[in-house]
Formats: sequence, C-alpha cells, structure tokens
Amino acid sequence: MFSFVIPCYNEEPIMHRFHKELTTILQENQIPYELIFINDGSKDKTLEILKEITEKDQHAHYISFSRNFGKESAMLAGLNFSTGEAVIIMDADLQHPPHLIPDMVQAYRNGYDQVITKRNRRGEGGIRTMFSKLYYRLMNGMIDVMLTDGVGDFRLLSRRAVDALLSLQEYNRFSKGLFSWIGFQEYVIEYDNVLRDQGTSKWSFGQLLNYALDGLISFNNKPLRLAIYLGSFVTITDIFYILYTFIQILMHGIVIPGYFTIISSVGLLGGIQLISIGVIGEYIGRIYYESKKRPHYIIEEKRIQTQQVREKSAKEDFVYNK
Ligand code: UDP
Ligand code: MG
Repeated sequence: MFSFVIPCYNEEPIMHRFHKELTTILQENQIPYELIFINDGSKDKTLEILKEITEKDQHAHYISFSRNFGKESAMLAGLNFSTGEAVIIMDADLQHPPHLIPDMVQAYRNGYDQVITKRNRRGEGGIRTMFSKLYYRLMNGMIDVMLTDGVGDFRLLSRRAVDALLSLQEYNRFSKGLFSWIGFQEYVIEYDNVLRDQGTSKWSFGQLLNYALDGLISFNNKPLRLAIYLGSFVTITDIFYILYTFIQILMHGIVIPGYFTIISSVGLLGGIQLISIGVIGEYIGRIYYESKKRPHYIIEEKRIQTQQVREKSAKEDFVYNK
C-alpha cells in the first residue's frame, strides 16, 4: 500500500477537486493507497471538508493541528502516521500533478528508494524565478548537501527512506536538505510547471527569505567559518595598518589627524563584528530550540481509520482527545 501525505493549509476551494482527481488516478491504475491529510491550522473550512471526505472515503484519514505549525511539521506528522510500504508527499493545490503517480510507483517498483519529481519554471514570474535560481546557486556553493532547482517536496520515499527521515529528530527541519542528506538511490521524473488555479500561494516573500536562511544554517557551519576568516583578515590588516601609522608618527610626528581613516575603520570593524555576532546568534538560537525538545506539532483532533497507528507516533505525539 502507498501512503499519501498531504499538508493542507487554507485549501478549502480545491480540496474536493484534489481528492477526486487523485483517487481517480489511483483507482484507474489499481494502486492500493491510504490518504493522510494534515490540516495545518487552516482558518477556512478545510477541516470541515476533510471531515466530509474521511466520512465517505475509507482510504482517507486526517490529522488536525491546534494551530498553524508550518508545512515541515505537517509533513512530519503525515510521515509519522503513514503505514504504507512507501510514502508519496504531495501538495493539496494540484500543483503536483497526480498523473505522475503511476510513473513514480513504477520507478519505486524498479528498486528506487526516492523518486523525485522536478518541475521547470514555466509561467512563473521573472523575479521569483531569478531569486530561486540565485538561491540555488548560492546554496550549493555553501552547503554540504546538494539541492536542485525545481525539485520540491513532491516525491516518493520507500519505507526505509521514511524511517531514515524520521530518525532525524531535529527541531529546525529543512526537508529539501534532509531528503538529500539521507541518500539512497534516486530517480528523477521531470514535469511542466503547473500554476495554482485556486487559492493563493501560502508563502509570503518574507517567509521564503526565512526559508532560504533556514536552509543555509541548518546544513552547515560555513557562515560561521566565513565570519571567522573575515574577522581574522580584517584584524591582521588592521595590525599592519597600526604598525605603519606608528612608524610614520615616529618618523614625521603627527601630521594630520586621520579622521577619515579612523571613522571608516571603526565603521568597518563594527559592521564585521555585528555580522559575526548575528551569525553566532543564529546558531545559538538553533541550539536553544533544539535543547527545548518541544514537539514539532500538537494535534487537536484526528481520524485515523486504520488500526495500526505506528507506535512511534503514538509515543511522540501530544494528542488532546476531544
Ligand atoms: N501548507 C501547509 N502549511 C503552511 C503552508 C502551506 O501545510 O503553513 C501546504 C499547502 O496547503 C500546500 C503546500 O503546503 O498543500 C504548499 O503550499 P503552497 O502551495 O502555498 O506553496 P508553493 O506551492 O507556493 O510553494
Ligand atoms: Mg503550491
């Protein structure tokens, strides 16, 4: 059986259509399945619709968070509750075309542990495409795992890949990096970008920027090292400069007070120190969050029809029964 993990945040207008299109494809291709919807604290009627769907469809289950915990947490909850031999993670907004699923399943059956889908950027705004490209170029230069442009969260993971992912218990989850970190044989399927036709993207520019920073910082300590190199370089240069001026003063006496040089060097040093403190702060912030060991999400209610809810999730989740 294949488990589908579907994070939903304010997806009211498209839920029914998504469910219909997905199940049609699955039934036509005789793929055995369970659907795990995660309502990530939606403010619209997503939960009501999920209740309707799970009422009618024996394959469908839902988990509902007590508030919005973000897509990363929603995916994690879905993975925790999945029972299938393999898991397919997909968005609810039909930007991840269900017609690719038979090919993904085929690739899995051919022995691949991760089947990745890769979209082109057809029809996307120029600025967004530019930023995305820049982001991937920058990231791959700096971090230790390889990220590919156009590869999102729409992918199939074998059970052992899922178990590997779940064994990574960090609080700050950056899935794009984690998927790549666990390794295993990968198979890539390419598809044409689909534009969202109902609802709106849930990412604001600020969120995307934060996401980019998370990726950078979760995956290495190079920024920290960069700060150290930069700091050392400036300090050494500064020492030479001080020696040089000192000799000048010994030879010629004080000529003109170097107002400009002082101001600029003070400014430069101040700036670099601030950057370094910021970088260190980021890492400390992460240590702080990790050390609190908070759960990734809180479930307010759920409806899981299969009996064998994985023991692991039962242990780990914080469930308020209604
Ligand atoms: N999503 C979520 N929690 C959030 C934001 C988004 O569960 O806080 C879900 C959303 O419902 C969708 C998927 O994650 O199924 C991708 O979101 P979206 O389409 O807004 O992102 P984009 O496709 O623009 O990257
Ligand atoms: Mg989307």
